[in-house]
Amino acid sequence: LKTGIVGVVGSGLIGRSWAMLFVSAGYHVKIYDADPSRMTLALEEIKLQLNDMDKRGLLRGQLTVDEQFSHISTAETPEECVRDAFYIQESVPEEVELKKKVHKELEKYIGSSTILASSTSAILPSIISEVLVHRNRFIVVHPTNPPFYVPMVELCPAPWTDPDVLETTRTLMKAIGQKPITINKEIDGFVLNRIQSAILGEGWRLVRDNVISVEDFDTVMKHGLGRRYAFMGPFETAYLNAEGWKALSEKYADTFYRVEKTLGEPDKMVGPTVDKIHNECSKKVPVEKLEEGRLWRDRRLNALAKLIKDM
Ligand code: NAD
Repeated sequence: LKTGIVGVVGSGLIGRSWAMLFVSAGYHVKIYDADPSRMTLALEEIKLQLNDMDKRGLLRGQLTVDEQFSHISTAETPEECVRDAFYIQESVPEEVELKKKVHKELEKYIGSSTILASSTSAILPSIISEVLVHRNRFIVVHPTNPPFYVPMVELCPAPWTDPDVLETTRTLMKAIGQKPITINKEIDGFVLNRIQSAILGEGWRLVRDNVISVEDFDTVMKHGLGRRYAFMGPFETAYLNAEGWKALSEKYADTFYRVEKTLGEPDKMVGPTVDKIHNECSKKVPVEKLEEGRLWRDRRLNALAKLIKDM
């Protein structure tokens, strides 16, 4: 079991998932939220989810529900949240000025070895941390939603981040059961969202231009590419398909290059194609039933995680 205190700042969807991940490995978590009612809600939600997972035999780690829950406490001030923490995970809303302000405040109370991490999905680490005195202790730790069921997490240091911040964060992420990857040079969208943009962008153009239906495009991913990608990466997949990357390059480099050149110009996802995609998706899960859809997704992700573990 791991020891030490983690400060979780912002207790919305992502903050509370982080709290659950840290306590499942044995850490103690202090939550702070600018809106106290959100902390009450977060505690209720965490308890519900822990009990639900326990019932289904899916509770993480060696601690019981009550033990895990007892590792979480709330703080009345940012100072109380981070004062004794060795690692702080900020998950406040995605607004540049707010993130800067929050980290500026938090750094007043931290020691020189504390790590300040942000869950930001799309703000570069240099932008949030440039004005910090302790900017060398800052790193982006971007989880994938839902973090409890999808373990990949992107670590992106700023150019001035100390090397030990990256190393310790990697070790910490592994200790709580996540799968960290490192982005060596900060880049817009990090990596997950660059790939997601490429896939959604191409799907958008193909649906917009009536090349394929919404349902069939999703089928390409879920029953085609996604089947393999659930347990092996695109480089590994291509390697196996083509007797290695050297053979792939000889045989298919021209084809990939030709097709890639036909990918259309970026197009903003606005206008009638939005209605087309929305209406098609809402036939499966109506907007009023999104919560049920998310629950179903989380259970499927869990079943998949078990399968992958057994492979
Ligand atoms: P959310 O709106 O659910 O939660 C944000 C919480 O921060 C709220 O409870 C709010 O009261 C609190 N807050 C606002 N100002 C604060 C302050 N000054 N100090 C402390 N708490 C404050 O948002 P979320 O979906 O949990 O997203 C949080 C971060 O995680 C964002 O940066 C987002 O981009 C990132 N992220 C989100 C997802 C996702 O799918 N939702 C995935 C990966 C990363």
